[in-house]
Amino acid sequence: MMPLWARLWLLAQSRADLIGHAQFAEGELYDLMKRRVNRTSGEVSECSRGAVSHAVKQCVEYGLLARESRAQCLVLPSSLVQKEGRGSRRCITHQITGA
Ligand SMILES: [Zn+2]
Repeated sequence: MMPLWARLWLLAQSRADLIGHAQFAEGELYDLMKRRVNRTSGEVSECSRGAVSHAVKQCVEYGLLARESRAQCLVLPSSLVQKEGRGSRRCITHQITGA
């Protein structure tokens, strides 16, 4: 089974905007992350909110997310941010209004 932190990082990458912020509504990150399926047995289980918070901290420790990451907004390090393309340059959580 893929570690929770790895799933979280993939989700952050898929959701990140032009400034590398992956924004989530209240409780949305946990709702997206809580279910885990064991591909071998097919067993479905749920993790705790604390486990999701720990996964965010792990990604920060591994340098995969910036320190200002939180449940409402996961922030990719600037080295991983795509500067061009479609998407927002605004973040309500981090009070960035765009350029
Ligand atoms: Zn943000």
